Amino acid sequence: MNLKRSNSSAPQKQGWHPAWLALLSSLWLSSAGNIALWSQVHQLPEVTGFRGLAFAIGFGAIITAAISAILSFLNWRWLLKPAIAVFFLSAASGAYFMMSYGIVIDSTMITNVVQTDTKEALDLMNWRMLISLALLGILPCWVLWKIPVKPLRLGQQIFGNILTLVISLVVIVGALLAIFQDFSSIMRNHTQLRYLVNPLNSYYAIGMVAAKPFQRNQTTLLPLGRDAQLNPANSKHKPTLLLLVLGETARMGNFGINGYDRPTTPELSNENIISLKGVMSCGTSTATSVPCMFSHMGKEAYESRKNNYESLIDVLHHAGLAVLWLDNQSGCKGVCERVPQVLTKSLKHPTLCKNGECFDEIMLHEIDQRIQALPAERRAKGVVVVMHQMGSHGPAYYKRVPDQFKKFLPECKSNALHECSREQVVNSFDNTILYTDHFLGQAIQWLKKSEANAAPAMLYVSDHGESLGENNLYLHGLPYNVAPDLQKRVPWITWLSASFEKQSGLVPACLKNKSETPLTHDNYFHTVLGLMNISTDVYQSKLDVHADCRGAS
Ligand SMILES: [Zn+2]
Repeated sequence: MNLKRSNSSAPQKQGWHPAWLALLSSLWLSSAGNIALWSQVHQLPEVTGFRGLAFAIGFGAIITAAISAILSFLNWRWLLKPAIAVFFLSAASGAYFMMSYGIVIDSTMITNVVQTDTKEALDLMNWRMLISLALLGILPCWVLWKIPVKPLRLGQQIFGNILTLVISLVVIVGALLAIFQDFSSIMRNHTQLRYLVNPLNSYYAIGMVAAKPFQRNQTTLLPLGRDAQLNPANSKHKPTLLLLVLGETARMGNFGINGYDRPTTPELSNENIISLKGVMSCGTSTATSVPCMFSHMGKEAYESRKNNYESLIDVLHHAGLAVLWLDNQSGCKGVCERVPQVLTKSLKHPTLCKNGECFDEIMLHEIDQRIQALPAERRAKGVVVVMHQMGSHGPAYYKRVPDQFKKFLPECKSNALHECSREQVVNSFDNTILYTDHFLGQAIQWLKKSEANAAPAMLYVSDHGESLGENNLYLHGLPYNVAPDLQKRVPWITWLSASFEKQSGLVPACLKNKSETPLTHDNYFHTVLGLMNISTDVYQSKLDVHADCRGAS
């Protein structure tokens, strides 16, 4: 009996106790897996000397214990290793993006990842990423797989797990008490730190994104502006042709016409345009800004909404206008579903498109034919065309610009921006603005040609800005409250034809006086309705930028 038992338990002596494996993994994750966090903590002015060291050790102990507390729920015979492997790999990819681009991981970032198409995702891939993934993710996974684990009886396992959980909680509470004063003030003053704790930031963000549908009714789309109609005075005039250019990642300060010290906007400078410089975006990413811009609610109400509503595009449609959405990007994020759309991905053009991606000018190609295909009775009332640009979408800025617009050199030829000098990064970004300037210039030429039969106007607004290495930050998408203004200040450029000015009674001098007025994307919905002279209950004149600039029409 005795003999038999010792025989059967002999192999059990081999291998590690699973609790040790979980603890060692937690230590690896809280140290190497969190290099992005530690390099930021190291730079904080508060973290110096012995007290700084004590803070770092205490903070590290809290992260280690928190991870090991989570692992105590996953510590079962066949589950532990796969669970730890998922932690390693998610920590490795999170660490790469946080270190390389100075981004943090929150629910917006996760939404972006989910909504990004494969083309954009491939733009982000590079050798440095693969090496980081290998060193921080695959290598520890390989070591993990090699370590033999001692099989435990169910009772032992449950006891071990409970003990791990209790010890972890004790360590968290103890460490918190020891460093509480510094911890609370540092976390309050540097809110970005909480989005850097890897990989818990990713899991928390995924949880927030997954929980959102439950807080909001996703099954029904509430109607909006069904009472919309064109002001009867419109029938006496030529139909309006409004071009809404939805910019991408264009930051306000890099436009020559906005005072930038480089000539990035030669074509716009030659046109009679009005540029508003005080506009803040709704979000810091396409996925948050675009639906918010086309919503009637404004940033605050939009973010806490309980229901989804139809968009500005629907209201224009309800008013009887012909509406067309052209998309040279990753889609309209749900705002244009009920009107005709053209995705440029499906188009072929010998010079404007290659490898499944097109330069923005493709949207002006055959535009008259596309408009002609819209219902005639709607066209007679007016036309709104939206052009959603590829614009300055990073990190591969150099891919957005035809060769003849690469005027600022040398450019950054890599999508790993930190491999290039700041000068190269800024050069490549400025080339994208130069090309956007050309695109807008071409769009204005097209609108001028339509003046025979229509009263044309253009409104160009970008969805958000961009960081180009300032404070080691790149790209965009930081949580709104911690993002620098560079990611939030957006260009807002208006061009009105003479016939449009005359019909609308808009006084350009009045608009020009608003060039420094603080405005936001909240103004967009109501300004567009105002430009089209649409009356509806959802229109708020106080948010219409032009409301007090209309003389007698
Ligand atoms: Zn965007």
